[in-house]
Amino acid sequence: MKLISACLLGIRCAWSGDDRYKNERAVKLAGTETLIPVCPEQLGGLPTPRPPQEIQGGTGRDVLDGKCTVVSKNGDDVTRRFVAGAEETLRIAKQFTIKEFIAKSRSPSCGCGQIYDGSFSGRLIKGDGVTVALLKTNGIRIILEENL
Ligand code: SF4
Repeated sequence: MKLISACLLGIRCAWSGDDRYKNERAVKLAGTETLIPVCPEQLGGLPTPRPPQEIQGGTGRDVLDGKCTVVSKNGDDVTRRFVAGAEETLRIAKQFTIKEFIAKSRSPSCGCGQIYDGSFSGRLIKGDGVTVALLKTNGIRIILEENL
């Protein structure tokens, strides 16, 4: 049993109100083992659709350490929602004793290794999203969608 970013399985939870149903390997895997879809941003209480959001001034680890914030393109501070969604995702993982999370790349929540830099210009920096940073800290292995 694994957790997976819900948008990868066709759930329309992305900020735009769309899904990210482009990864055939994720869909095939769902036919052979139990995948529990989670959207940390929705679990944190954010609406769908919503403005795009990015971490500004750091990474998901820095957000958890209180060193930087997550902001939406219209200027709202959504840090509290992102942290709440990460904590809820971790709670679900613990509830089912899940040790692996299949992650949507580059997201400020689910990204692993690369995230957008907070300028809303498409530039990438090294780092994890908020949820992935919290899951890693708790010993959960992250499988990036490209590496399935
Ligand atoms: Fe997909 Fe994760 Fe973004 Fe939700 S928070 S839309 S699951 S990438």
